[in-house]
Amino acid sequence: MAGIHISEVSKVYTGGVKAVSSVSIDIADGEFIVLVGPSGCGKSTLLRMVAGLEAISAGEVKIAGRVVNEVEPAERDIAMVFQNYALYPHMTVYNNLAYGLKNRGTPKAEIDARVAEAARMLEITQYLERKPRALSGGQRQRVAMGRAIVRKPAAFLFDEPLSNLDAKLRVSMRGEIKRLQRRLGTTSIYVTHDQLEAMTLADRLVVLNGGEIEQIGAPLEVYHAP
Ligand code: ADP
Ligand code: ADP
Repeated sequence: MAGIHISEVSKVYTGGVKAVSSVSIDIADGEFIVLVGPSGCGKSTLLRMVAGLEAISAGEVKIAGRVVNEVEPAERDIAMVFQNYALYPHMTVYNNLAYGLKNRGTPKAEIDARVAEAARMLEITQYLERKPRALSGGQRQRVAMGRAIVRKPAAFLFDEPLSNLDAKLRVSMRGEIKRLQRRLGTTSIYVTHDQLEAMTLADRLVVLNGGEIEQIGAPLEVYHAP
């Protein structure tokens, strides 16, 4: 089962800031969860704990049946997409997509097949030999998503991936992310402060406030709640 189980997870930063307090979320295999809430409510900290980029102070995170608290980020079966794309500027798009697989020792033929498939899905095939600086913002964000897809991870973690794009592109990329996730069926956690993005993408919304879950439910339940 490739779901994500977050059980009573807390984060206290050095210095005593309680960023996340005993949060539990059971995410089903293939479910798309969106974390929303005001700035500073703990969204990014929670996502980073699932990703392994931040130590967990208390509680447990399970991904695809495996407790990941002590597992190095590279060994977690997840792929993360950031708002600043985090592409390697000196590498071609092909090599940006292939890099993680090469490091894992994936055979060249398999790498080429996966890169070709992801590039086709994201319509970036014609840019494979370009460097990121020769791409538009939307194309760069597609490459960032491609890099996540080629790994075929148990889960995607999105940290405000569209917030650097202009409004029009945000709307079209939003639709694209939803289509891709439906097609791939990959369990996803998506952090945003954009309410429309949250409504469009979420199977279930989690509203955080002060490091705690304030509401959790289908988008219409949450936004129509009294
Ligand atoms: P959000 O993503 O919802 O804006 P964050 O998870 O970034 O919220 O932050 C939650 C709380 O933790 C805030 O009070 C923030 O100031 C604090 N915080 C975030 N990162 C650190 C850090 N590295 N050290 C100390 N406090 C932090
Ligand atoms: P460098 O990293 O030295 O710039 P390249 O980017 O040209 O080298 O290619 C690195 C490796 O990736 C080579 O094995 C090359 O054949 C392969 N490669 C590059 N682009 C593609 C592509 N579009 N399809 C398949 N293989 C590619």
